[in-house]
Amino acid sequence: MSSVFLSNVDDYLGPSQACVNPLFSNTDSTTTITTPTPEGAVRTRKRRTVRERSDTTNTTNTPPTNAVVSASIADCLACSGCVTTAETVLLEEKHSIEKLRQWIHQRVQTSVRKRFVVTISPSSWADLMRHMNLQNSNLRTRQQQMTTFFHQYWAVDVVMDANVPLEWSRLAAAQSFVEAYRQQESQTNKILLPQLASSCPATVCLIEKSIHAAIPHLSPIPSSMSCAGAYFQQQDAECFHLAVMPCHDKKLEASRTEFTNDQEEPFVDMSITTTECWQLMQEFCRRENATTQQHITQIVEQLPLSAVYTSVQEWSAACSPPCLIAPRDCRSVSSNSTIAPNSTFFAESSGGYADFLFRYAARELFHTDIHDFSSLWQPFMELDETKQKQSVVSARIASQKRRREFLHATLYYHPSSETYSTALTPESRPVLRFAIANGMQTIQRALKPFQENALPPFDYMEIMACPSGCINGGGQIRTALRETPTETRERIWTSQSYFQTPSSVVSTEIPLTAGQLRTQYRIIPPMQHTMGAVAGIEMKDAIW
Ligand code: SF4
Ligand code: SF4
Repeated sequence: MSSVFLSNVDDYLGPSQACVNPLFSNTDSTTTITTPTPEGAVRTRKRRTVRERSDTTNTTNTPPTNAVVSASIADCLACSGCVTTAETVLLEEKHSIEKLRQWIHQRVQTSVRKRFVVTISPSSWADLMRHMNLQNSNLRTRQQQMTTFFHQYWAVDVVMDANVPLEWSRLAAAQSFVEAYRQQESQTNKILLPQLASSCPATVCLIEKSIHAAIPHLSPIPSSMSCAGAYFQQQDAECFHLAVMPCHDKKLEASRTEFTNDQEEPFVDMSITTTECWQLMQEFCRRENATTQQHITQIVEQLPLSAVYTSVQEWSAACSPPCLIAPRDCRSVSSNSTIAPNSTFFAESSGGYADFLFRYAARELFHTDIHDFSSLWQPFMELDETKQKQSVVSARIASQKRRREFLHATLYYHPSSETYSTALTPESRPVLRFAIANGMQTIQRALKPFQENALPPFDYMEIMACPSGCINGGGQIRTALRETPTETRERIWTSQSYFQTPSSVVSTEIPLTAGQLRTQYRIIPPMQHTMGAVAGIEMKDAIW
């Protein structure tokens, strides 16, 4: 039997061969075999012993019982048995473009008119536009044309730029952080910090399965995708909500039982990656334009503009499609694709949670406005406090510095002037310490103190599993089957010129209830094995 654990995730995990969860195996602890089924469930089948096999040849004996047990996607998500096989099979089954293709055909051919809404993440917008080589002079216009495309070819009613729910999610996360900071200041025995951003499902999965000490530190605020789902669910429980996201891990998030309504209907009906979205766009476009052979980019650039609404309050269900809901104010990080991304870009490339929260907390807690946009985020190096200087401690950190995957920002208190600023002076004392860690290796290093009964030296950490953040998510469109590091870098550079982020507004009205803005996490106990057989865990130790 082989199995894979998440205890030291560095790279792609090889597939597991069997469902090793003792809760699905038989009481005699014999091994079970996992077989993906067309219904999208994993069936655990008892592996027969040599004696049983020989017994089956004897028709006079009682045939062995082949009790079939099903492990649902929820079971797999609450299990640390394997990572990339059963879970992936189930997720791909539920969130596949095959299912979406069928759904669109059905919708177009029948008169049943459920509302069809699509939420597209900022990274996916940028990646689609980069790959289509659209002009980047007016990104809002391109978004409106693509909305018309989705309406004409996929029968989509509403497209929401995920920057809208991102504003809600970031603001709620900022309020939650400020509350935790104040509580910790007033009750010294309560350890609530550092708070960890919870918008990356891959990181949440890693923490739930292998860094249990960090679970109480995860921010209780759902990601922008789940906020968008909760909003559309409360508007119209019947609507079909599709999310276009930069990674496969968002399928995992969409399948969490925490993100369902009282009737257990998911907030997000289907999550597909940017690559899958692009495949389906091309497919529908080719079919419709088989005679003209026009390129999809030309088609999109000639389409009329959809209506645009700058808030959900402005949009209403009565508005006739196609509708685009996008924030009033969006910042473009750079319009020049030949300039290498700097730390400002990497601080924004996953939604800019840490950047927004830092500015918000500085204002709320210390009445200080941070106007610095270009040099706030600096590569993190260990601080030699005795010498008051920063020094590179290893080649790995030096390489991380080059790749800008571990950034930090600090707000200092200056006792002599009784002021706060981000400038470090000999007498200054840090009052707010934030960090951004991108990439599995970097986040493992950043979270290591939790495994050593210590705490990382920060108040807030944005920890994202993909190197360079969501802009380089695993579901983004690659330029080659096996991209070289240079090709990856160039792809990210180009995407930068299409990337938009919400302006740092703090007055957004959040159209969700307090309950919808809270989620929770679970401890997933490690599987325990003895030599050659599954040892099993006590039922009471498993949280399902
Ligand atoms: S994730 Fe757990 S329950 Fe699901 S197939 Fe793997 S071992 Fe079995
Ligand atoms: S960092 Fe990667 S895995 Fe995490 S949410 Fe972003 S794209 Fe997905």
